[in-house]
Amino acid sequence: MSAFIEEKVLSVHHWTERLFSFTTTRDQALRFSNGHFTMIGLMVNQKPLLRAYSIVSPNYEEHLEFLSIKVEDGPLTSRLKNIQVGDSIIVGKKPTGTLLIDYLLPGKNLYLLSTGTGLAPFLSVIRDPETYEKFEKVILVHGVREVKELAYHDYLTKELPQHEFLGEMVSSQFVYYPTVTREDYHQMGRITDLIDSNKLTNDIGFPELDSKNDRVMICGSNAMLKDLKVMLEKRHFKEGNTTIPGDFVIEKAFVDQ
Ligand SMILES: Cc1cc2nc3c(=O)[nH]c(=O)nc-3n(C[C@H](O)[C@H](O)[C@H](O)COP(=O)(O)OP(=O)(O)OC[C@H]3O[C@@H](n4cnc5c(N)ncnc54)[C@H](O)[C@@H]3O)c2cc1C
Repeated sequence: MSAFIEEKVLSVHHWTERLFSFTTTRDQALRFSNGHFTMIGLMVNQKPLLRAYSIVSPNYEEHLEFLSIKVEDGPLTSRLKNIQVGDSIIVGKKPTGTLLIDYLLPGKNLYLLSTGTGLAPFLSVIRDPETYEKFEKVILVHGVREVKELAYHDYLTKELPQHEFLGEMVSSQFVYYPTVTREDYHQMGRITDLIDSNKLTNDIGFPELDSKNDRVMICGSNAMLKDLKVMLEKRHFKEGNTTIPGDFVIEKAFVDQ
């Protein structure tokens, strides 16, 4: 039996010259938890060319959605960026990952810290009703270089609070904090600096990050994960994993070469 399912592309949206999203059909046999990633890709010369991708769409949706970088000369994305409605992609049958609310100890506030395409897994976590049952407040921080890279900004600020089932929870429990590093914007700075200086918590009117009340999920570059891990451990947060829940969990948004 193949480890992959073939799905059809339903829609494609290009955010910038380096970033796009697309949706596909979903085999209902594909089960995953919100926050998981899976292998996806294209058949190239009759062989699967696959990369890890976080699943943007929540697990109750009928379709799948992904947010993708376009790497110049990247083996997969230099091809994937050209996909059109009706094209086939292959999707791995074994989603996995550490960015699950199940891998966090109970807490009051859930901080989701992301840079670039690291936003992807959190788009499904913030659309899971259980997230709002488990945490009083859910704070999504998305760091990018330029304003145009704030993918899903309008969805998060306009559509999600009006969502038929989640709207009420989102309006009272969800906080979205976009931040930009290389352009003027009303919220600026690197996530590491915003945490270290307590500017983030001051801006949103919350107490300083504290391992007693706060839980954290992080998805970004290796450097960002490393720096934030040190900062959280200084504040007595303990890292969780798929077997032992903790105060924070981390996942790479990509692997540096
Ligand atoms: C757990 C996990 C989850 C991932 N989820 C996603 C996702 O949801 N969306 C996504 O676009 N990518 C994601 N990636 C990265 C993805 O697997 C591929 O690396 C990416 O699609 C590029 O593939 P490629 O073959 O074109 O180039 P590759 O040869 O895979 O990458 C070439 C180089 O491009 C850079 N790069 C790769 N991906 C990114 C990225 N996302 N952002 C910035 N720089 C990058 C790195 O420096 C890398 O060494 C994830 C990676 C991991 C490990």
